[in-house]
Amino acid sequence: PIRTSHQIRSDFLEFFRSKGHTIVPSSPLVPGNDPTLLFTNAGMVQFKDVFLGAEKRSYVRATSSQRCVRAGGKHNDLDQVGYTARHHTFFEMLGNFSFGDYFKRDAIAWAWELLTQVWKLPPERLLVTIYHTDDEAFDIWHNVVGLPADRIIRIGDNKGAPYASDNFWQMADTGPCGPCTEIFYDHGAHIPGGPPGSPEEDGDRYIEIWNNVFMQFDRQADGTLVPLPAPCVDTGMGLERLAAVLQHVHSNYEIDLFQHLINAAAKITHTADLEHKSLRVIADHIRACSFLIVDGVLPSNEGRGYVLRRIVRRAVRHFWKLGALQADGAFWRMVAPLCDVMGEAYPELVRKRDLVERSLKAEEAAFAQTLDAGMQRLEGYLHQSDGALTGEQLFQLHDTYGCPPDLIADILREKGMTLPPETMTAYDGLMEQQRERARAAGKFGGGIALPGELIAQLAPTQFEGYDHADEDGLVVQA
Ligand code: ATP
Ligand code: MG
Ligand code: MG
Ligand code: MG
Repeated sequence: PIRTSHQIRSDFLEFFRSKGHTIVPSSPLVPGNDPTLLFTNAGMVQFKDVFLGAEKRSYVRATSSQRCVRAGGKHNDLDQVGYTARHHTFFEMLGNFSFGDYFKRDAIAWAWELLTQVWKLPPERLLVTIYHTDDEAFDIWHNVVGLPADRIIRIGDNKGAPYASDNFWQMADTGPCGPCTEIFYDHGAHIPGGPPGSPEEDGDRYIEIWNNVFMQFDRQADGTLVPLPAPCVDTGMGLERLAAVLQHVHSNYEIDLFQHLINAAAKITHTADLEHKSLRVIADHIRACSFLIVDGVLPSNEGRGYVLRRIVRRAVRHFWKLGALQADGAFWRMVAPLCDVMGEAYPELVRKRDLVERSLKAEEAAFAQTLDAGMQRLEGYLHQSDGALTGEQLFQLHDTYGCPPDLIADILREKGMTLPPETMTAYDGLMEQQRERARAAGKFGGGIALPGELIAQLAPTQFEGYDHADEDGLVVQA
């Protein structure tokens, strides 16, 4: 019988409980007190200080199912959503952790036991990567597990490539990090793509399901690696990717949980084609947006709230594209189906459902007033300028019509076009000038409200610290 997403989550936690691990609940998406991080992007985030030796817990082995968002900062998959079978903005990461207790040998052996004995995955479908110099990991995979040498691939640090393999994992530019070994599942020759390390690896045939990181260093701001007090283990497996494997489907969007959301989106938008990309994007984005609100983020013009705002607007644009905007809003209607599939595992979602619905409704209503005109204006600009937008045009689309550059870039991408880097530079300059003007107006008590944008009327996010908007992938997809 096919395992549901819920069963897979508890299979994992129970397996590691049986190996002496304490089950620890997911922490919120807004990291407790870590200014280096925009969102919780991995299971290890709540244990960061334990790895660093700065905090002690009552256990040395932990396991969790952690809600994660990768839509800003070092790990940003927003532009992958809708284009790959395996990336979400929000996903659940199953993990097991050793704080100076077990190390490579047990981690690898248990991973293999869970995959091939509990879940009975055919071993011949699995292959692994190791850090290129990690002979110890090679030895365990080859001699303890018995994996043939040609299915153990050595990989180095792949700086720069956005989603090519990189077997040195780090949470952010500083903090705990170390070499890793990753387990891939071969979905079959009918799907384009090559094994990790090959030129075709960005295809979706071989999908990375589980990363086992051997945490050994604390990376400093100047790049140096300081050894941790004790070697640790940190693993992460995408629940949705594993569900795809165990439910015998290729794409994450075909698993039970996503099918429920996609069917709901299809109903709301009267879309017959259940594989329509817009439905997938909407199903993805409702999870990120809802859980960000649950965890205290509200749409705003900076920091975390600005990331949330941009995700909501991307979702709303897909409703628009499907011709499915409604007078009293569309996107918030996805919250009920989300509660159906995730409310049991996340009771806080159900408790805050009303807040989530109201926030999404308000944000959509504000944007819906200008979206249509913004889209017409974009078409006009594209005619006028033969495809290449100027910085001023991009600025107008944002300032007057509430369409941020990443939304415009996403639309251009659908048309096979890109935003030239000069356009982004010019746009950044104009934004900076506008901020200057707003500051000056504030200083002289001019009483001028913030930018001509109506979004300024909405409630600000609770978080008002540093501004990470610039580094989180506003820039444009190649
Ligand atoms: P990929 O190379 O596919 O982008 P990754 O190497 O960035 O994945 P890790 O940082 O190693 O991912 O995270 C551990 C695990 O979390 C991955 O092996 C995968 O199963 C899952 N995962 C990572 N990013 C996503 C995502 N955007 N959506 C769903 N699952 C993800
Ligand atoms: Mg990635
Ligand atoms: Mg990877
Ligand atoms: Mg990885």
